[in-house]
This record gives sequence, C-alpha cells and structure tokens, in this order.
Amino acid sequence: MTGMTSSARPHLNRRLAEFGTTIFAEMSALAASTGAINLGQGFPDTDGPEQIREAAVRALRDGRGNQYPPGPGVPELRAAIAAHQLRRYGLSYDTDTEVLVTAGATEAIAAALLALLEPGDEVVALEPYYDSYAASIAMAGGRRVPVTLRPHAGAFRLDLDELRAAVTDRTRLLLINTPHNPTGTVLTREELAAVAELAVERDLLVVTDEVYEHLVFDDAEHTPLASFPGMRERTVTIGSAGKTYSFTGWKVGWVTAAPGLVAAVRSAKQFLTYVASGPFQYAVAEALALPDSYFADFRTDMLAKRDLLSAGLADAGFRVFRPAGTYFVTTDIRPLGEKDGVAFCRALPERAGVVAIPNAVFYDHREAGAPFVRFAFCKQTAVLEEAASRLKTLGAQSPQMS
Ligand code: PMP
Ligand code: GLN
Repeated sequence: MTGMTSSARPHLNRRLAEFGTTIFAEMSALAASTGAINLGQGFPDTDGPEQIREAAVRALRDGRGNQYPPGPGVPELRAAIAAHQLRRYGLSYDTDTEVLVTAGATEAIAAALLALLEPGDEVVALEPYYDSYAASIAMAGGRRVPVTLRPHAGAFRLDLDELRAAVTDRTRLLLINTPHNPTGTVLTREELAAVAELAVERDLLVVTDEVYEHLVFDDAEHTPLASFPGMRERTVTIGSAGKTYSFTGWKVGWVTAAPGLVAAVRSAKQFLTYVASGPFQYAVAEALALPDSYFADFRTDMLAKRDLLSAGLADAGFRVFRPAGTYFVTTDIRPLGEKDGVAFCRALPERAGVVAIPNAVFYDHREAGAPFVRFAFCKQTAVLEEAASRLKTLGAQSPQMS
C-alpha cells in the first residue's frame, strides 16, 4: 500500500516509509499542473448550503469558537450529533460522555487506533481501504490484516468466511467502512449482522467509518453497526460533516461510542490537535439539524450525477461497478485493453484531460486491485459531461504499454 511518489525521504521512519505522499495530494497536484478535470480526490466543486456557510460567518463574527473550543467539542455540536443519531437510527448517546468532536474523520480514525491498539495488535480491515487506515495502523504500531472485497455480480462483496478466517488471537479490532470508499459497496443488513456476531463471539472492538452514511442509492440502506445486538458497547462510530454537507475543508468529524471508548479516543485526540475548527463546529451543529428534505435532495442530486458519469464511463468502454453508496464509481479498465491502473491514471491527464485514482494504492494485494480505477462524481453536471466526452476519445486510441 503506497502512494505513487517515490522521491527520497531519508528522514522518514520505517513505520511510515511505505506511505510517501497521499495519492489524493499527488493526483490533485497532477490535475492542477495539467489543467485536467479532477475526478480524483473526493471533494465537491460547489459548497454546501448557503445557510450553513452563513452560520459559520455568524459564529466567527459573534466570537463563538475563535478561541480554543472545549476539548470534547462545543456542547451545541455534541448535542446535535447525539440528536442526529437518535433521530435517524434510534441510537441514544449521552452528549457529555459518549460524543467527541474531532478534526475530521481522519483524526477520529487516527485517535481511535492510537488509543485502542497495543503494538503488534492485528486490525482486520476491508481491502481496498481508505489510505489513512494503513498509515494510522502503522503509526499505532499495529498490523493490518486485509480482507479483500471481490467483484461479484457487478459489485465488490465481502466474503464472510474470509473475514472470519482473518480473525486470530492477536486481533484487537475490526475496522469497517460502509458505505465503502473506493468501491461504493454498502454492506447489507445480513452482512453487518454477521460482522456483529463475529465481533461479539471473538470479543473484538469495532471501529466503523460511516462518513458516507447519507449517500446511499436505489434500494441500499445504511444501518450503523452500533445498532446490532451486543455492538453498542464495543463500537466506535465515526462520522464527518465533510461529505454530507459539502464542506470538506472545515474538517469537522466526530466519534460516538460508549463512555470508556470515547474517553480512550479523547486521550489520544487531545495530543493530536487538542481541538480544531471552532466556528465551524457551530455551523455544523445547524447542519445536522437540517430537515430530512436536505438529505433527500442531496441524495437525489448525487444519484443523478452517479448515473450521468456511470453512463459516460460505460460509453467510453470502461466496465462500471455501479456504486450503491458514496460519491465514487470504480471501473475496470480491462475492456479498454489496459491492465495497470497506476500507469493508466498517470497517463490519463495527457490522453484524455481527466484525473482519476488507481484503486491499487488502496490494496496490500496490489495485483488484486491493479485493473480498477476510481472516479469521483461529486462535481457539477457540466463538468461530468465534459469529462465523459473527453473519456470517449479513449476507445479510439490504442492501449498504452504497461
Ligand atoms: N473516511 C473515508 C472513507 C473517507 O473517504 C474520507 C475522506 N473524506 C475520510 C474518512 C476523511 O474524512 P475527513 O475529511 O472528515 O477527515
Ligand atoms: N476522502 C477523499 C477521497 O477519498 C480524500 C481526502 C483526502 O484527500 N485525504 O478522495
């Protein structure tokens, strides 16, 4: 699992040597330097609701959050997070002891792993995995044990027997992500029930990254792992405002969990950033209380974008795995006569003026991810249309040497 840059880093320690520069920074820089359309890094090209932007301005002007906010997060935001979990999922969390605000989901993941792992502990995670998982496990001195999601009937699916077999006496926790980046898989209720049963049977902790909880399409449904029997006490649930409200730069995330787990995560978190995003915390508190129609409209808008880009990619000759969730679509480039996603993505700005992400960088078993490439569709319709029309020229070109 590595980014694509191999420039020398003589001072970087062994734990982090394999990580280099994140693929997202690297590919966004490539988009900037070539002027290509950036469907790589997952950020929307329009800001979230005006009223929420205004709420941030108001907080700033009123002097709310301009100095260090409280370590666990401002009370208004913690209350809004608890109310959201209750309203949507019937999960009740105590505002003071069971909710922690973090600097995005990224810090929540890092703090959870730093707090919960002993050196040498194994973490079973779904592969391909979001890049910060591997780096955070490494920083915590843990060992990652990937369970590969494999293409089956048009989607990447979890093999529950493989998951069960990956758990050993050294396994400390399961690191789950649903809706899943980069594949767009949403674990079904049955799959989640099986994950929960396994966690209870083997007495494992579970860290579950649910930042795309509001981005589920068609018949898919997001069910928090914490809502399954025996899970509330052993599950650290991670959320983020970045994806749901289209303010990825604000870096407001959170953890909900039982008091002992929140206390542990808080201990690590206080020495990472201590606190962050003061005025934005107040704005996100308002965002969490938006009416259900906001979430429904957001989903409808993203669904149309998913269908637009998926159709464009299929037209251009890619095999498309229609995502049930997230704002990413994974494709297979083999129908284009290609097999190496890393080489393909490196050449794509030049060949078609588009930037994408090679899924291989999210794999330990790189060969399993080699032919897959991820495109983000959280972009304006005209941008997606232009990207689709550019990609259509690929079919007419001869395959790259790889
Ligand atoms: N987890 C997943 C699966 C993601 O895709 C991302 C990127 N948003 C994050 C965590 C990080 O979220 P944040 O920007 O809130 O740190
Ligand atoms: N989550 C975003 C993605 O998967 C990237 C966030 C980042 O750049 N770290 O594209």
